[in-house]
Amino acid sequence: MTEILFIGGDDSAEAAIKAALDPEAFAVHRVQTVAEANDLLAQQRFDALIIDFDDASSGPGFDLAQLLGLFLFMPTIALMDQFAPEMAVQLVQFGAQDSLIKTELGNDRLSVAIQCSIGRAQMAHFDSLTGLPNRALLFDRLTHAINQSRRHGNELAVLFIDLDRFKFVNDTMGHEAGDTVLKTVASRIRECLRDSDTVARLGGDEFIALITNLDTAVSAATVADKIVEKVSQPIMIGGHAATVSPSIGISLFPEDGEEADELMRLSDAAMYQAKNAGGENYQFYRPDLNTAALRRIGLGVALQRGIHHEEFALHYQPQVDLRDGKVVGLEALVRWHHPERGLILPDQFIPLAEELGLMTPLGDLILELACAQIKTWQDQGLPVLRVAVNLSAHQFNQDDLLEHVERSIKSQGLTSDILEVELTESSVMQDPESAARILGKLSAAGVRVAIDDFGTGYSSLAYLKRFPLDALKIDRSFVRDVTHDASDGAIVRTIIALAQHLGLDVVAEGVDTLGQLEFLRANQCQFAQGYYFSQPVAADEVHAVIEKLEGERVPTINGELLLEA
Ligand code: C2E
Ligand code: CA
Ligand code: CA
Repeated sequence: MTEILFIGGDDSAEAAIKAALDPEAFAVHRVQTVAEANDLLAQQRFDALIIDFDDASSGPGFDLAQLLGLFLFMPTIALMDQFAPEMAVQLVQFGAQDSLIKTELGNDRLSVAIQCSIGRAQMAHFDSLTGLPNRALLFDRLTHAINQSRRHGNELAVLFIDLDRFKFVNDTMGHEAGDTVLKTVASRIRECLRDSDTVARLGGDEFIALITNLDTAVSAATVADKIVEKVSQPIMIGGHAATVSPSIGISLFPEDGEEADELMRLSDAAMYQAKNAGGENYQFYRPDLNTAALRRIGLGVALQRGIHHEEFALHYQPQVDLRDGKVVGLEALVRWHHPERGLILPDQFIPLAEELGLMTPLGDLILELACAQIKTWQDQGLPVLRVAVNLSAHQFNQDDLLEHVERSIKSQGLTSDILEVELTESSVMQDPESAARILGKLSAAGVRVAIDDFGTGYSSLAYLKRFPLDALKIDRSFVRDVTHDASDGAIVRTIIALAQHLGLDVVAEGVDTLGQLEFLRANQCQFAQGYYFSQPVAADEVHAVIEKLEGERVPTINGELLLEA
């Protein structure tokens, strides 16, 4: 289907065009003004333009200069009322491929003219090897895209792509193989982009990708990442594999520059930085390339990919009943096994995931992993313990939280009392009214709720009383100094008393010395977790740790049980 954009205000001209074209082969869209045409061209590809030129001279929306910019790089046919030789010559000088008289469109004249003008424009503006736009057309598209972005307040990205090792392939495998590589690379880059984005070949092994309507720099990096991955796959030529990889430099409008040539130059400079970094990677243009912001963008992209590839695992830390030394539950703590950087702890990526809006998919993954693990322990005939999962503030405020929680539990055929959710005091107290509603739903569904990091936020006692809660977890900053800081000792005692008063369990976190444990026990704190008992451990070590902990119970003089390190 050939897509035609008709610019003109005249209904009868539109009817004449439609009558002259086979509706099976041509789709005609009509706009009235050049401005509308520009907007539409920014969103959608058209194969050719038809401009009603009589309107152009009379109608208010048409300005020759504006038109010039429009049809210089589009196959364009000008329509006139009567044949005017000077006008016809002028139109071709402005870039139209042909001009026709409105009353003489039939007998295939219009369709042939359209096909010829597409062919001519193709030769002038496209690279014959790859079929991609050439430098001149790219420049025109970039200039247009900048104008559009400026008007709509959007960002755009220019990706300068240069191939590593192309010369080697060309020299060792021959020019024909080199051509195949270039064609394959062109189509692989194309596959990484939306239809409305442009990929051009500048010549040699240099390509440009122009990404418009960008929401964040992270999405430019995501695209660059995809291109690196796709283009670096081996290319099979006559039974031999040719491998090239891209070095990509990225410049952003309006952050880095506001003009087409400037953006091209900066992306080129960034591309050299990518080469210097060893190739097969991308770099944003920045005068100082390794700022924290860039590392975060990189980490954000990796995080997205990590969620997709499920690079996350849960570790489990036992919670111990101080009265009898029994392990009563486990807290699930997420770990990221980054393919290159190794183990990354949650404090380094949970806040970033929140900021990038990735906490929903990550949180869902965590819930699923926890429930699947409980099921695995069940199937192995191991004692089944309650597992506590941390929920971020963002997850807590998500409309369909309960749905997600219930789905994870049900998908493994578990009962909801096997799961506890931990919410920080501050996320619950942000908006207590709505928190009360959400907590009500969770507890009605049978899920236990614990308040995490208790003592660090500002809890309203009135609300605490109203919330359907099961446990308070004393923040580890108070537990840490409990033996030598009198005010921390007093805070811990107060929280324990408060929990008892409200009928809640109380769990001390971060217990890592015997002294802390003794203080807690002396003050009737019932549950504790911390390095003193065990670090968070991988799922397959959990039951060995529990056995060791429960086996080590040694009675003390007054008949109580004391745990030895
Ligand atoms: P948190 O919920 O307060 O978790 C307790 C943290 O204290 C864990 O760090 C744990 O390894 C550490 N810890 C345990 N015992 C001791 C001890 O005796 N001494 C000391 N110094 N530390 C101890 P981790 O695993 O690095 O987690 C840090 C924070 O990241 C968590 O704090 C939680 O806020 C967040 N987080 C962890 N996993 C998840 C998750 O799955 N989802 C969400 N939303 N947040 C998570
Ligand atoms: Ca926690
Ligand atoms: Ca905590």
